[in-house]
Amino acid sequence: MTKQIIVGGVPIGGGAPVSIQSMTNTRTDDVAATVAQIRRLAAAGCDIVRVAVPDMAAARALGSIKEQISLPLVADIHFDYKLALEAIAAGVDKVRINPGNIGGEDRVKAVAHACKANNIPIRIGVNGGSLEKPLLSKYGGVTPEAMVESAFGHIELLHKFDFDDICVSLKSSSVVTTMSAYRLMAQQSNYPLHVGVTETGLTRMGTIKSAIGIGGLLAMGIGDTIRVTLTADPLEEIYAAKDILKAVGLRKEGPELISCPTCGRTRIDLIRLAGEVSERLSQIRKPITVAVMGCIVNGPGEASAADVGIAGGDGVGILFRKGKIIEKVPQEQLVDRLFTLIDTL
Ligand code: SF4
Repeated sequence: MTKQIIVGGVPIGGGAPVSIQSMTNTRTDDVAATVAQIRRLAAAGCDIVRVAVPDMAAARALGSIKEQISLPLVADIHFDYKLALEAIAAGVDKVRINPGNIGGEDRVKAVAHACKANNIPIRIGVNGGSLEKPLLSKYGGVTPEAMVESAFGHIELLHKFDFDDICVSLKSSSVVTTMSAYRLMAQQSNYPLHVGVTETGLTRMGTIKSAIGIGGLLAMGIGDTIRVTLTADPLEEIYAAKDILKAVGLRKEGPELISCPTCGRTRIDLIRLAGEVSERLSQIRKPITVAVMGCIVNGPGEASAADVGIAGGDGVGILFRKGKIIEKVPQEQLVDRLFTLIDTL
């Protein structure tokens, strides 16, 4: 089991539920826009939010942002240790910074001491795109081994100053490299792992890469907190993250829709029907599995694992529960009857 760290009250690692993170894409020094986006992310199910801190104006805005939000706030900092100190003073709950990149041990010491004094963890965020040159030459490019060695280099620097309140990420834009790097890290340490694939692209491909990378690792028992990265509204990252957790069985909250792919037996507009059911399910919080199947002959059997379901036929459909047919229903009433049944569960 991994070691546990606490980020603004949210535990990461040590058997805690896998938390969902996202990152704002507003200008951090635009406090109103950033707070508004963080509130939308919180309402969508985000557990921890990160903001970029590219300059002092952003760092100085953190205190005011923090006052107006309920989510734990993480400051994302590259190279400039003064920004880290300012962010810590502003009350952030975690800092993402790579100690090897901030220009000297005195600076690492200052950041480590400030984090320790304020009881906040550091995430070491190794990124395949910005690996140290000596490691690139040693390994001949971005390899999982190079990424893991980079992580241990940063960890060692923090250890020099007696700091071990650490979590680690090892992201690359290659799904396979990313997965191997996390597996290697999990074999060699028990630091909690922030899992994600980076620069994945637009929503469709980005979701696929994240589902494979993050979902695959989670299915192997690796990963304590996750971030889906999409070139899209960050809300999409939360929806995708929630679906990944559901798909690997790590979140039971809310319903899961299963529907058949349709085939030559289908005599109903199943795509529209499944869309309507999906839309109405978004208002429901019960942890149930709901099936929408394309034919009454095979549908109930194929979906026998579902709690409830409907199967469409030629004008008449059926309502079923755990694979057993409850009643025949005229097609146009199918969805309403399904939701009446769901209400009674
Ligand atoms: S449930 Fe019926 S319609 Fe759907 S794929 Fe199976 S056999 Fe085809």
